Amino acid sequence: MTLKKGWIVSFIIVVIVLAGFVWAIKKGASSDRCDYDGTRIEPLYAVYFFLQDGSEKKFCSVVCASMSFSALKKQIKVVRVADESSGAKIIASQAFFVESEVVTVPHIKNRIHAFAKKEDALNHLQKFKGRWIENPLDMSIK
Ligand SMILES: [Zn+2]
Repeated sequence: MTLKKGWIVSFIIVVIVLAGFVWAIKKGASSDRCDYDGTRIEPLYAVYFFLQDGSEKKFCSVVCASMSFSALKKQIKVVRVADESSGAKIIASQAFFVESEVVTVPHIKNRIHAFAKKEDALNHLQKFKGRWIENPLDMSIK
């Protein structure tokens, strides 16, 4: 009987600890800040640099990311950008970039938008007087 109670107590403790972890992770994720200017990151417009040493740099916008890009370039393994339609993290070299009248991050006046699908990019471009631009975070250009 006591053994059973002991199990129940430890089970409850485990559940509480796990719930605490989940809460802490969620809280941490929602307060993600840009590594360039400290702006709160809106996941739809985020940019991520994955570095050789396994660490990650994150930015609120393509503008902030490109500010840090040349300095970090040698250490970067992969650049990922959020697809503005779905929020999925896609590899920057496979994304479609559009510059338009729409500002995503007012603080830094970011007008560069990234999309996973060409039709989404085209849609945005036609709607908001955009134009195609090259990947501003292209690692192949030395
Ligand atoms: Zn920023």
